[in-house]
Amino acid sequence: MTEIKTVGVIGAGQMGGGIAHVFALGGFNVRVHDINADRIAAATSLIEKNIARQVRKGMTSEADAERAVASIKPAPRLADLGECDLIVEAATENLEIKKKLLAELCLHIRKDAFLATNTSSLSITGLAAGTDRPERFIGLHFMNPAPVMQLVEVIRGIATSKETFETIKALVTKLGKTMAVAEDFPAFIVNRVLMPMINEAIYTLYEGVGTVEAIDTGLKLGANHPMGPLELADFIGLDTCLAIMQVLYEGLADSKYRPCPLLVKYVEAGWLGRKTGRGFYDYSGEKPIPTR
Ligand code: NAD
Repeated sequence: MTEIKTVGVIGAGQMGGGIAHVFALGGFNVRVHDINADRIAAATSLIEKNIARQVRKGMTSEADAERAVASIKPAPRLADLGECDLIVEAATENLEIKKKLLAELCLHIRKDAFLATNTSSLSITGLAAGTDRPERFIGLHFMNPAPVMQLVEVIRGIATSKETFETIKALVTKLGKTMAVAEDFPAFIVNRVLMPMINEAIYTLYEGVGTVEAIDTGLKLGANHPMGPLELADFIGLDTCLAIMQVLYEGLADSKYRPCPLLVKYVEAGWLGRKTGRGFYDYSGEKPIPTR
């Protein structure tokens, strides 16, 4: 089986940063790329801070933390990913962005490198078909925040080879994560179930059934969820939530997946949740304040 030593991560946003963190602590060399160089610097310093916190909590040793931080290098150009054995794509959830990016990436990487996408909803088979190596392409869906969440969904496209699947399975085990294998259908397992619930919570708000606070308190205390659905939507990113609902709606052609118009409105306003400082809550103060 191919040994993976160096991992490239594309997209240094919430997920890319977390994924780079996981691979660095897992003992891999990590290369981080983003279209926006500032994002690479911001993600790297956040990873350092988060790893230092893990040391303070006794979750990792000083020596491992130092080694992990030193193993992360910026890759400002796609060509800087040329030595990677595996590249995990975690750019914005948009089919055109991902297709263009993956096609260009193939020009710069080794012929035997594996490619994985962290997409939450898009077809693995479709993304793979736009590359020069559909058999070495797979879905590797980390949950948010990647360093904390135990699950990784693994999704094979129609052309994914047994070697690729076995290599990725072994990799997930090496990272100390638990794998759930999902078939290549819109939004796979976790988001197929989770996202319609979040969308329904937004409809509940839109129709005036409850306030932001009532809905989140209701699900936390009434259904024992650790976070309310609107709080969770802000945490995921409302643009990502909308993109996933659109894939479910179009991919399954069922009106029950219609994105709530209020979610569309928030995204149009640029209120994308925590990452922009405002969503169903306002994050500008010490404590998040409901916006409705
Ligand atoms: P994000 O908005 O935090 O980050 C996206 C990053 O991609 C940004 O830094 C952006 O500059 C970069 N980017 C955009 N176009 C690019 C390009 N052409 N080349 C290189 N970089 C580019 O988004 P996120 O929440 O990190 O989501 C990233 C991916 O992970 C998406 O596919 C999303 O569906 C998936 N995902 C998200 C979550 C979540 O809870 N947010 C969970 C699991 C999976």
